[in-house]
Amino acid sequence: MQLHPADHGRAWIEIDLEAVTRNARALSMRARVPLLPMVKDDAYGLGAVPVARALEALDPWGYGVVTVAEGEELRGAGIGRRVLMTCPAEANARTMHALRAAGITPSFGEPKAIRMWMMTGGGDWHLSVDTGMNYAGVRWDEVDTLAGELGACPPSGAFTHFHSAELDDGSMEVQAQRFRDALDVLPTRPQVLHVENSAAIVRAASSEWTFVRPGAFIYGVARGGTMLPEPAVHLRARVVDIHDVPAGESVSYDATWTATRPSRIATLGAGYATGCRRALGNKGSAILHGRRVPVVGALTMNFTMVDVTGLACERGDVATLIGADGDELIVVNDVAAASGLSPYEILTALRSGVPRVYV
Ligand SMILES: *Cc1c(COP(=O)(O)O)cnc(C)c1O
Repeated sequence: MQLHPADHGRAWIEIDLEAVTRNARALSMRARVPLLPMVKDDAYGLGAVPVARALEALDPWGYGVVTVAEGEELRGAGIGRRVLMTCPAEANARTMHALRAAGITPSFGEPKAIRMWMMTGGGDWHLSVDTGMNYAGVRWDEVDTLAGELGACPPSGAFTHFHSAELDDGSMEVQAQRFRDALDVLPTRPQVLHVENSAAIVRAASSEWTFVRPGAFIYGVARGGTMLPEPAVHLRARVVDIHDVPAGESVSYDATWTATRPSRIATLGAGYATGCRRALGNKGSAILHGRRVPVVGALTMNFTMVDVTGLACERGDVATLIGADGDELIVVNDVAAASGLSPYEILTALRSGVPRVYV
C-alpha cells in the first residue's frame, strides 16, 4: 500500500465515514423509516462525534447513546439533533438534572425514576419494555404495575430490544408480539415506537415502527442474511522488522509456531495492546501487497508476526489486519470467527491505543 505517505506511526485505524454513511443509508432504505443510529461506546470504537457528524447527512431521527456522558459529548460537539439514552436512567436528582441540561431524552422502566423525572419537570421520555432480554426496562407483562406513573407522566415513546434477531428461531416474532401486547395496556399509545437493531432490519425489511436503531451494520459488521455492509474500518500496521527463520526455529512467546522450512517472517507494529486480539495467534491473517499472509506464533502486546516467505516486502510497508487492501478483504466478522470472539468485541477493542485517521 502506498496510500499513506503521512507517518501515522506503527499502527492506526482508518475510518471510512462515507462507507459508514452508505451502510446507514442502505438500512434506512430497507426499513423505509428514519434511523436512530446507535453511537454508544464511541460509535463502537469508530468515534461518536465524527460518525454522528457524517450521519447528519441522512437526517436521522436522533442518535442513540447508553450513558449521559455520551450524550453530553455529542452536545459538546454541537450536535443539536435528538439524543436518546436507551439505557434506563438512574433515579437520582443529579442524573435528572444532567439529562435535562444536555437535552437528552431518557428512558425509564421503573416507577421511582419516572416519578423523579416528573417531579423535576417532566418532558419527553421513552418507556423501556423488556420482552425477553431480561436486562433492562419493565417486563412486557408487568406494564400495568406502572399505570399510575404512565397516567401522570405519559411517555412520548416506547421501545424494546431483540435478543436473537440474527437467528431464524421465531424469537423475534414472539418479542414483537409481546411489545404490541404491552402497548395495548398503556393508558395512551406513545407517538414514537422503535424496535429493530441491525439484524432485525436485515431480516424483516420494512419496519412497522417509527424508526430503526442500527449499530453494528453501520460500522461494517454483517448481521446475517445476504445484505452485506461495506467495510468501514481498516486496521493498518507497518512492517517494523523482517527475519529469516531457519527450519526448526520458533517464533514468539511460548514457541507455539515452528518453521518447517526456511521462512521469512515479518513483524507488524500492532499487537494486543493496539487493537489486535491475542486469540489470532496462529489463526488470523493479514494482507500485505494485496496478498493474504498467515499470522504465525503468539501475538505480543505490540507485535504480530506473519509469514511472508516468497513475498517481496520490506520494513515500512503497510499491512492490513482488518479491512481492504487491493482486491483482498478481511472483514470484521472473519476476525471475530478466527479469534472466537464477537464482532462487537473486535470493533470496540480498536479504541485502545490506536490512532484514528478519518478518510
Ligand atoms: C446496541 C443497541 C442497538 C444496536 O444493535 P446492533 O446489533 O449493533 O445493530 C439497538 N438497540 C439498543 C437498545 C442497543 O443497545
